[in-house]
Amino acid sequence: MKFTPEKYSIEDRPMQPFIDSDEIWHFINNTTSSKERVRDVIAKSLAKNRLNLEETAVLVNANDPELIEEIKEGARVLKEKIYGNRIVLFAPLYVGNKCINNCQYCGYKVTNKRVKRSTLDDLQLVQEVEALEENGQKRLILVYGEHPDYSPEYIAHTVRIVYGVKKGHGEIRRVNINAAPLDIEGFRIVKEAGIGTYQVFQETYHPETYKFYHPSGPKSNFEYRLTSLDRAQEAGLDDVGIGALFGLYDWRYEVLGLVRHTNHFEACYNVGPHTISFPRLQLASVLNISEKYLVSDKDFTKLVAILRLAVPYTGLILTAREPADIRREVMSFGISQIDGGTKIEIGSYTKSDYIQDIDKEQFQISDTRSLNEIIDELLDQNYLPSFCTACYRLGRTGEHFMEFSVPGFIKRFCSPNAILTLAEYLIDYAPESTKEKGWEVIEKNIQQLEDYKKGSTDELRNRIEKIKEGVRDLYF
Ligand code: SAM
Repeated sequence: MKFTPEKYSIEDRPMQPFIDSDEIWHFINNTTSSKERVRDVIAKSLAKNRLNLEETAVLVNANDPELIEEIKEGARVLKEKIYGNRIVLFAPLYVGNKCINNCQYCGYKVTNKRVKRSTLDDLQLVQEVEALEENGQKRLILVYGEHPDYSPEYIAHTVRIVYGVKKGHGEIRRVNINAAPLDIEGFRIVKEAGIGTYQVFQETYHPETYKFYHPSGPKSNFEYRLTSLDRAQEAGLDDVGIGALFGLYDWRYEVLGLVRHTNHFEACYNVGPHTISFPRLQLASVLNISEKYLVSDKDFTKLVAILRLAVPYTGLILTAREPADIRREVMSFGISQIDGGTKIEIGSYTKSDYIQDIDKEQFQISDTRSLNEIIDELLDQNYLPSFCTACYRLGRTGEHFMEFSVPGFIKRFCSPNAILTLAEYLIDYAPESTKEKGWEVIEKNIQQLEDYKKGSTDELRNRIEKIKEGVRDLYF
């Protein structure tokens, strides 16, 4: 096997790629998963330690159903310990689908002539955001194809428009981005517009598979994409999201790739990626894929639990690509963010007669429920739906801040802020039945905080009263 040799001095050493496929396969092929070893690794994670590649491989190779159950149970316990019962909600907003790439799995590939290309103009963008605000959304991810029209200046322009839209009590308080990799100057430009997370998914960490699925266009450069979020860090953008598209290559390899990428960030910048996404391949217009590596539900649920254990402090995002029943299951072992009320056709939030049509969309989504239906279900299952954006707005990000490293932070800040944003949602947007359930969940959560903080929730209760009187955007 070929480990990356550290044999040069810093000056003459070329930049070492941090993904070495031989190294990843070595761990998968040479790691055994005895009961004791799997339990040791789970215990290490439950002590809130990130796992290394070998330890992740131990979990990946565990095939005994009893051990898989223990992995899932470990993930549930860890999630509860670190994140509590909050689930942060967001919606994607597709700004433009022009694209010069040729990703074989994507409906927006340049060679797909069936899809109609369009970009929201400024007025349409405002209208889409108004529609999202009227639904209660507070956090968006703006999505763009890769095209010269979508320059950093253009992306920054659209971000500023979104922040400026205020409809009733509505406003968007956090704008994340999913767009092409930029150079350092480009990342500086979008950072200045006040973005939250910048997401770039590597799709596959396996260079040969990457080459096959990205035959042309700027995205065909594996290393430029792999190092994109390092350039973001250079630009001072320390809030980044990574991801792999599951179904292109062996899922076990991609899990180790994601862990390696996370460990690279922690080693180089002292802070891991803010989020990891693990979309599973969906039907798309003119799909050109091999079915060899499609991931079964059984493997998918297992891999989410493994990721939770491997990177305890990284947010895990699960999108509406997955059907409601899978979302329900994996939410319990490790998801921190989900989207709700999702529509991904350009301009679809303002369409009253919208139905999915894969010739108009990047891929097919499976969970088409409204935001309120999703909130209803979260409340039924005792989750605390949250639209909180406080940390990012108070500059609590990056190397100097890790919410998890501050003792009691979640109880002092995250849970109260989730409660305040849920109170706003219930008052401004929820139907009566959701209101009733929502206030019960809020009361139950406040009581739990009272038990923890020995009665000091007066300020939280004060702020809820202020929200009832019409004040908005209160946070700790
Ligand atoms: N500009 C973005 C890019 O290429 O990085 C495109 C945005 S797209 C919303 C984000 C992700 O969707 C892609 O990075 C890919 O992982 C995922 N995706 C693309 N085609 C998909 C499909 N057929 N099924 C599921 N996810 C897909």
